[in-house]
Amino acid sequence: MQAVTYDEWRVRAREMLQKGVRPKSGSWDTTQVMLFETEVRLKPLTSPKVPAEFLKMAPYVAAARDEQRWELLYRLLYRLNHENAHLLKVTVDPDVHRMNILCKSVRRDIHKMHAFVRFKRAEIEGVETYVAWHKPEHLIMELGTPFFVRRFGDKPWSIFSADGSAHWNMKTLTFGPGMTQQEFGHEDPFDEVWKTYYKSIFNPARIKIKMMKTEMAPKYWSALPEAEIIQELIRNTPKQLQNMRDAIQEVAQPPENADWSQLKVAALACASCPLSQKATQTVFGEGSLQASIMIVGEQPGDNEDIAGQNFIGSAGELLNQALKDASIHRQDLYVTNAVKHFKFEREGKLRLHKKASGSEMHACKPWLEAEIAMVQPTVILCLGATASTAVYGRLVKIQVERGAPYTESGMAKNLLVSWHPAAILRSSSESEKHQRYQELVSDLRLALALSKLGSGD
Ligand code: URA
Repeated sequence: MQAVTYDEWRVRAREMLQKGVRPKSGSWDTTQVMLFETEVRLKPLTSPKVPAEFLKMAPYVAAARDEQRWELLYRLLYRLNHENAHLLKVTVDPDVHRMNILCKSVRRDIHKMHAFVRFKRAEIEGVETYVAWHKPEHLIMELGTPFFVRRFGDKPWSIFSADGSAHWNMKTLTFGPGMTQQEFGHEDPFDEVWKTYYKSIFNPARIKIKMMKTEMAPKYWSALPEAEIIQELIRNTPKQLQNMRDAIQEVAQPPENADWSQLKVAALACASCPLSQKATQTVFGEGSLQASIMIVGEQPGDNEDIAGQNFIGSAGELLNQALKDASIHRQDLYVTNAVKHFKFEREGKLRLHKKASGSEMHACKPWLEAEIAMVQPTVILCLGATASTAVYGRLVKIQVERGAPYTESGMAKNLLVSWHPAAILRSSSESEKHQRYQELVSDLRLALALSKLGSGD
């Protein structure tokens, strides 16, 4: 199979986009491109649009050690042109989420390369030169090494890894093949210098072993001269607790074939995102499991976090009033939130609500999906932008889309959006507040009517 470079991918992707070739999964090699070209094509594009943000992130995704990266990049490019020019803002979209994760992971790997590469002095054909071997997680030789030109531009150097190498001759930076660590194996007195330096900066009072392993993963240690003494230094240091968890799961994993109580118990133990560490508890949805209307809010607030129940604070009071005005009994509904933990910032004694991020919504989404699969409502009414984004899987403008059902999703027969009660309470004027409240009541009435249509009552 032929390997592809980022530049090659760009040329091919542009051609394919211009021809309107649909994305297809599979490996991105020459054969695959030919297969793509025999595919049914949609609307050729004379001038494909590539947003600046995409161009900024794509080289990082291309450097990820991920077999699906070329397909992912093309799919995103295609969707940006054919589906939604603002797709990259939809952080809960699985492709966008994957792009962000890969980008972050590659950036972090580059940062580690900058921190952990240790040059050794060598004489190559009579010329003093500096060489290093490094084990990156991703394919970052080209993205990561220009930093060393800026930092050590006054000396010739080479950096090797198993996948490739970079060489600076004090004029140009070139790239070549890689070599294994054994092939590289090199000893010199500089190792002693590193060890002395490391001992001098090592402060036992501040050591955080797990943190150290996270920041300087043991896999890098083999290439670091000072690594030999790390174990010794750790052994001689009193153990300290530190807060970082060993590993953070990316998304929740609800148990399969669970009933509602089992789901709730599993959600109580969920630590898929950092919010679980600060919040008092997971606030799971509740209500009738036979409900034909499900209401989805954003996240529990201060009161909900303490009580473990949704919509019981001031936003809940407004929602209760609106339900009453729409002649709906709350006990007939299932009420939940897109994010199950309270996100806040402390200000004195207050815990101020903070909007959940795309990755927190994404981490929590399997719980919401499990609730929807269990209740199977005819109508899902999303209150506010966070809930709408989580359920629709795209950005939704409440002013524009409220008042009419969206029927094309796999989530429920009808999706509706409306104002979040907190947004109504925060309205800039009494008249705006009144109008938004009336619109919420009218959306609730619409939900009721649709639910009756759906159930044939
Ligand atoms: N706001 C929400 O979105 N959900 C709650 O449960 C409370 C306030």
